[in-house]
Amino acid sequence: MLNDEDLNRYARQVIIPNFDEEGQEKLFRTACLIIGAGGLGCPVALYASAAGFGHIEICDDDTIDLTNLNRQIAHKNNKIGHNKAENLVQECSSINPNITIISNKKKFDKSTDIKKFDLIFDCSDNLETKYTINLLSHLYKKTLISGSAVQMEGQLAIWKSGINKEYPCYECIFPKTEEVAPITNCREAGIIGPITGLIGSMQVNEGIKEIALKNYNSSAGYLFLYDGLVQSLDKIKLTKNKKCPVCSI
Ligand SMILES: [Zn+2]
Repeated sequence: MLNDEDLNRYARQVIIPNFDEEGQEKLFRTACLIIGAGGLGCPVALYASAAGFGHIEICDDDTIDLTNLNRQIAHKNNKIGHNKAENLVQECSSINPNITIISNKKKFDKSTDIKKFDLIFDCSDNLETKYTINLLSHLYKKTLISGSAVQMEGQLAIWKSGINKEYPCYECIFPKTEEVAPITNCREAGIIGPITGLIGSMQVNEGIKEIALKNYNSSAGYLFLYDGLVQSLDKIKLTKNKKCPVCSI
């Protein structure tokens, strides 16, 4: 139940059409796993905390480095060398002390237990982790909200293949290949903070819609491509791969 302080804290969002106190209570009951506490994970965790998602776990084994600070907006200069997940939890708690938020200082892998979560935010920066997140989210029938960003471009998608078999999964669209992939990691290709900030915000926006809003159209089944250089956002309808090793079985 929301208390008086909560009603004040969330006053500006519960008045949005189709949101209401009921939507806020749904957010409060929702458990989110945020995988990655970097460029995407920072805005996702900050906005998810501020919005009132009631149970949040942030998973990252990495430590804060000076080269992270152009975009990983929750990490301050005086926290270089600290664990990212732990620091992000502290920053989120100072925004909203009325939620439960904990850190998991372990690298996400197949052994990570995702059963207790309702929403999975993929804020990882490497393909291997993305494939594992996709596989587990499909198996355990979770809603996966996936973001990625490089240079001045970003991607967003909502994957619900385990919930509705008509929807594609991440691997349907980005199949594993033996070919050498183009360089898409921030370390080698570069990234600016506003792009990760924007994509992370969009991930939480989709999370709020999925959980709290009545009468809305899910964005699952589409891929959103943002180009910050020319300012364009493309919405592409995705097709399921009937031979996908993850979701066609
Ligand atoms: Zn698939």
